[in-house]
Amino acid sequence: MERLVLFGATGSIGGSALDVIRKFPERFELAGVSGWGNIPRLAEIIGEFRPKVVCLREENPDFTAGYPDVEFLSGGGGLEDLAALDDADTAIMAIAGTAGLYPSLAAIRSGKRLLTANKESIVCAGDIIMREAAAYGNELIPLDSEHNAVFNLLTRFDPGTVAEITLTASGGPFRDKPVDDSVTLEQVLDHPTWEMGQYITVNSATLMNKGFEVIEAHHLFGMGYDQIKVVIHPQSLVHGMVRGSDGTLYMSASPSDMRIPISLAMFFPETPPETNPKLELPGVSLDFREPDLERFPLLKLAYDAGREGGVMPASLNAANETVVNAFLEGKVRFDKIPELVMKALDGVANVPTPDLETIMETDWRVRVRCGELIGL
Ligand code: NDP
Ligand code: MG
Repeated sequence: MERLVLFGATGSIGGSALDVIRKFPERFELAGVSGWGNIPRLAEIIGEFRPKVVCLREENPDFTAGYPDVEFLSGGGGLEDLAALDDADTAIMAIAGTAGLYPSLAAIRSGKRLLTANKESIVCAGDIIMREAAAYGNELIPLDSEHNAVFNLLTRFDPGTVAEITLTASGGPFRDKPVDDSVTLEQVLDHPTWEMGQYITVNSATLMNKGFEVIEAHHLFGMGYDQIKVVIHPQSLVHGMVRGSDGTLYMSASPSDMRIPISLAMFFPETPPETNPKLELPGVSLDFREPDLERFPLLKLAYDAGREGGVMPASLNAANETVVNAFLEGKVRFDKIPELVMKALDGVANVPTPDLETIMETDWRVRVRCGELIGL
C-alpha cells in the first residue's frame, strides 16, 4: 500500500489523481490532501477518501468542527507541514502557480517521491528543485503529459544516445483563427482538445504554456534549449518525442486524458495493471507543423528567458500570471497579453544564479510593476 499526499486535490489535475486513487484502492491510500478556497469540493473529498490530515487556505472552525477525526492545517505553513508528513511516501503536486514551490521543496526535503504537475515551480526555481532532488536522492516524475511522455521514452535510451526531444502543442483555439480585439473569454476557454483549469487554458491559447513547458523540460531532462523542439499537433494524440542520435524519432501517443500520465507516474517504474484508454489508429490522422512565433511571441520569449536563465524565467512567470489574471477578471484584452508581458519584463536586471529569496523577491517586484502597467 502506497501512502500519498495530494496537493491541489480540489482542482482539475487533483480530480484526475483522485480518479486513479479510486480505481486502485488496494494500491494507493490518501494520507493527506490540500484544497484551498473550494470548501464544498474539499468536503466531498474528505467524505469519500477519509484523509487524516487536510490543509485549507485559512482556519475555518465552522467547517472543521464537523470532522473531529481529521487534523486540519492552514495557509502556506500548513502546506509545508503537510508536505513533510511522515505518514506518506509520495507527494502529488497539483497546486496551480508559484504557491506550489515551497511545498514541493518541503516534500523533497522530507524524502518523498514527488510527482509534479506544477510547472511554475520548475520554471521559477528549476535549478534549486533539481539540485535538492539530487541531494536527497528523490525521484521526481513529471505529470505534465508532454514531459511524462518524454520521461517514459527516455527510460528506454542509454545516456548520450539522445539527439533531441519534442513537445507537442495543440495550438489552442486560435491556431487557425486570427486574434483581434473582439476575442471573448468564452472563446479563449474553449480549448479544442484538453479540459484544464482556467489559467493553463488561457496559457495554451497564447502558447505561453508551451513556452513554460520548454523551460520545464530543460530542467527535468538536463537538455540544452537547442535540443528542445516544439511542434504544433492539432489532434493532441502524440504528446512527446525523442530523437535518437542515429536520427530515428520515437513518439508516445495516447488519448488526451490526464489520468494516463498520472497513472503512469503513480505506478512507475511498474506499469498500471489495467490498460488505460487506448489510441486506435484506423481513421486517425496525425498532423504536425511548425509553430508561428510571430503570431505567438510568448513561445519565443520563453526560449529567450530560458536561455538567459537566472531570474528571467521567474520574471516571465510572474508577469504572465499577473496579466492573465487581469484578463480573467475582464481588465485586459486577450490580444494585449503578449505585449503587456513583454513590457513588464523590460528593465528586469538579471541575477545569474539566484537563491530562493532572490527569486521570490523578483517575482514580487515584477508583479507590482506589471500591476502598475495594467493600472490595477
Ligand atoms: P486548477 O485551477 O484546476 O486547480 C488548482 C488547485 O490549486 C486547486 O486545488 C486550488 O484550490 C489550489 N490552489 C489555488 N491557489 C492556491 C494557493 N495559493 N495555495 C494552495 N493551493 C492553491 O489547476 P489545474 O489542475 O489545471 O493545474 C494544476 C497544475 O497542473 C498547474 O501548475 C498546471 O500548470 C499544471 N497542469 C495542468 C494540466 C491540466 O490538464 N489541468 C496539464 C498539465 C499541467 P481551490 O480550487 O480549492 O481554491
Ligand atoms: Mg502539458
